[in-house]
Amino acid sequence: MLLADARREVVETCRRAVEDRLVIGTAGNVSVRVGDLVAVTPSGLDYGDLTPELVGVHELDGTAVEAPLKPTSELPMHLAVYAETDARAVVHTHSIAAAALSVVVDEVPAVHYYLALLGGRVLVAPYRAFGSPELAVALIDALGDRPACLLGNHGAVTTGDDLTQAYQRAGYLEWVCEVALKVVGAGRTPKLLTEQQIAEATRNFIGYGQSADDGLQVDVVDRVGSGLTAPLDPQEHAGRQAEHGRDA
Ligand SMILES: [Zn+2]
Repeated sequence: MLLADARREVVETCRRAVEDRLVIGTAGNVSVRVGDLVAVTPSGLDYGDLTPELVGVHELDGTAVEAPLKPTSELPMHLAVYAETDARAVVHTHSIAAAALSVVVDEVPAVHYYLALLGGRVLVAPYRAFGSPELAVALIDALGDRPACLLGNHGAVTTGDDLTQAYQRAGYLEWVCEVALKVVGAGRTPKLLTEQQIAEATRNFIGYGQSADDGLQVDVVDRVGSGLTAPLDPQEHAGRQAEHGRDA
């Protein structure tokens, strides 16, 4: 079977997304790029029935290579990400807080420094019909050089160097959106973080998260932030851990 590992990973990620309530039913879809091929979820299949063999393998222009079922209707979105960015995995969810927040803001308000795990800012793409080329264009605009965005009145997209990283980002994005929704609903003027504060958090996160008990997942924080991924000197890293304690 072509791309056996990648297809297995797609199945596992879809099942996990259902368990974690990031998707319901057949909503949402994920893909992995391996070389010039993409393994992507098929359309309209309950994830409980999904097997690696049923995960489609397509070329970067969408041509089916080994795909017993129709691909997800959002294939254009996935292919656009691979055409325009260096991402190697895409996770698209209809998680509740992300979908709800996308209706009321144009950008996720800077309510929490976890935005640093998502490229510093998360923009909301304007609503476009699902599966349309217009949605793919709006997604690319909203992503820019960052690994996450919301799709207006629809859901969320995260990308990563692999499916694990993209999926972890989906979880952090949903958490930040949930916090932001509560803030927006609180009816008070929020104290939002400045660009500088988010940039500072981004710097602090580089290389952070390697102790098992700090609550962060290594894959997200190690490689987050474009241009800020140089490996840390171990001593400097230890200093940062001490400096920032467990407040992450
Ligand atoms: Zn969708």
